[in-house]
Amino acid sequence: MKWKLAARSEKMNPSVLREILKVTERPGIISLAGGLPSPRAFPVSAFADACAQVLGTQAEAALQYAASEGYGPLRQAVADMLPWDVDPAQVLITTGSQQGLDLVAKVLLDPGSRVLVETPTYLGALQAFAPMEPEPVAVASDGQGVLPEDLLAKAAGGDARFVYLLPNFQNPTGRSMSEARRVAVVEAARQAGLPIVEDNPYGELWFDQPPPLPLTARHPQGCIYLGSFSKVLAPGLRLGFLVAPKSIFPKLLQAKQAADLHSPIFNQRMVHEVMKDGFLDRHVPTIRALYKHQRDVMIEALRHEMAGLDVTFQTPAGGMFLWLRLPAGIDTVELLPHAVERGVAFVPGAPFYADAADSRTLRLSYVTASEEQIRSAIAALAETVREQLAHQAAARTEQLLAAEPAP
Ligand code: PMP
Repeated sequence: MKWKLAARSEKMNPSVLREILKVTERPGIISLAGGLPSPRAFPVSAFADACAQVLGTQAEAALQYAASEGYGPLRQAVADMLPWDVDPAQVLITTGSQQGLDLVAKVLLDPGSRVLVETPTYLGALQAFAPMEPEPVAVASDGQGVLPEDLLAKAAGGDARFVYLLPNFQNPTGRSMSEARRVAVVEAARQAGLPIVEDNPYGELWFDQPPPLPLTARHPQGCIYLGSFSKVLAPGLRLGFLVAPKSIFPKLLQAKQAADLHSPIFNQRMVHEVMKDGFLDRHVPTIRALYKHQRDVMIEALRHEMAGLDVTFQTPAGGMFLWLRLPAGIDTVELLPHAVERGVAFVPGAPFYADAADSRTLRLSYVTASEEQIRSAIAALAETVREQLAHQAAARTEQLLAAEPAP
């Protein structure tokens, strides 16, 4: 059959990342590439109890169709959990926060309209936006995220619909916005009349101190907030939520209804059962402690193994990722197969950029591998980098010798 494809399907690129990562699935490879939470953090027995409870006492409702908005008590629990005044009527339970990105894109983007993003940004968001055929516009960013003055400048040109921001322990860089930056960014968005879509799946995974208040808490009428249960409970549940002002909520709800009627009610009831009685207050600190330790192991290994190389990184204060910038001349897409040969995989930085990529960058996850694996993976990565630099130096010498006139 020769299928005639819709124009939008042209925009659904076969996840660049998935293609790249195929090589990493070989046995024996230590993958620092995936964005998987540690299975050691999954609260299995709490789920076993909650599952028995849901099936024992609410089986009919848990196995039946349900409301598109989500399970009322879970919407209330989400509203109670957030650090600003949220009406549960503004909470929409989604099939992961990834669905929140899809719904926002469907409701707000037309072909050719502009969506402002960080440099670099979450690849999965670029993928969720792409079928709506917008023009992604990269806003200049530093170690704290977007620069407010560039946000203002980019918001002024063309038909900008929203800016997509990740203020806490960003995927892929691990960076966070300071209090002052949040104030300035919100002010810039307000001034430009530009809505903010705030994505915060990692905010609870802080190591030393909680991050400053979300952007949405400062400007609730101008923001859509996306949250997730993936990183604090388990990603296989596929449960997240969005909080939207009443002026846009009904449209998001209609898009949700058309997409999947509702998110799995069995999972929603189970999560509510797990969460009640303050479970997350006891459970999340154990994830923080585990990830902080893993981060420390990786930082120590990097300092040790990369010594003497022009490698830079920012120490993440939470979340799952560390962003490396390798010495000049190294292209991380080209480096990956060599690293895989030495038994280690990472994600090259290029796919995370909406415009010109910094090809020296790469993303590492410190949460899924064991301590031992992290140490040997970083050692293998450093060897690969040194080997590539040596090859390049040898090639340059050869070129120089070839250019030398014969005596
Ligand atoms: N946003 C960001 C920044 C993410 O890193 C992820 C997960 N990789 C998601 C959204 C989607 O998460 P989920 O759908 O599991 O909630």
